[in-house]
Amino acid sequence: MSDNVIGVDLGGTKVEACMLDANRELQGRERVLVEPEGGLDRVVDNILYVINAAAGGKSYSAVGMGAPGTYIDEKDTIYGVPHTPIYETPGFMSKLRDKLKVPLIIENDANCLGLAEYFASCSDKYSYVLAVIIGTGMGYGLILDNKLYRGAHGGAGEIGHTTIDYMGRLCECGRRGCAEAYLSGSSLSRRFEEMGCNKIGAEDIYKLYLEGDQFAIKLFDESCHMMGEIFANAVVAFDLEAIILGGGVSNLPIWYEQVPEFLKKSLFGIPRGEIPIIKAKMGDSAGVFGAAYLALREKGVLKF
Ligand SMILES: [Zn+2]
Repeated sequence: MSDNVIGVDLGGTKVEACMLDANRELQGRERVLVEPEGGLDRVVDNILYVINAAAGGKSYSAVGMGAPGTYIDEKDTIYGVPHTPIYETPGFMSKLRDKLKVPLIIENDANCLGLAEYFASCSDKYSYVLAVIIGTGMGYGLILDNKLYRGAHGGAGEIGHTTIDYMGRLCECGRRGCAEAYLSGSSLSRRFEEMGCNKIGAEDIYKLYLEGDQFAIKLFDESCHMMGEIFANAVVAFDLEAIILGGGVSNLPIWYEQVPEFLKKSLFGIPRGEIPIIKAKMGDSAGVFGAAYLALREKGVLKF
């Protein structure tokens, strides 16, 4: 049986696949548009195309796939994909599975990101870690006792939709005061605009912060405090040892300079020592590598 496995990162716009060997070394990689507007058969064909292209004619023995939302096995359905509703079609995964002829393991895409970052940065040091991915939105992967923790329905770790102010900003999920309504890339940008400033991205607001702009300073002071509180909530709830921060917004150095202090002040109870905030390392590769790790676990090469 082949030692190679495939990882697939299914997004709403693009689908990417990679082939890894048993040492987690990259053997091949491909990315194409997923074309959901062309219907489910087109999507399946595009997924199969990237898998074959990444394999480059070599054999493989399992496929791991990260997808938005949560896949429930018994229903053979992915739930919670409002931006690409066609993925919620019952039987979508069976359609793919029937054509693959090797085991297919499906996991939430943010869990795959978290998993890859955990192995890249701190699996040798820590066993209780939350990976928080902040881009346009927010995603999470929770590792407890060295294992990806899914919860009863696969939805564990969603700290961005825990509230820090029940009268606060309206979140896309319908609740008020969620962390995501303040700290995602789009929320940072919107909050800055609401201060009467131009609507610009987080990196540009950070440039203004460095130049001493009073609105940018206020925005980042508040945001670092909030991030410290929300991370402290997670640390206290799960007794975590570290937080990994990834995604586009995680590139701003201010989080690593200021959030640990707020986090430390808000911790409760037992002595814990420093809770490091670790910058993610894998960038764009995290999703597809994390998906391949699911396949390596299936083969008994990785344990988590
Ligand atoms: Zn929310």
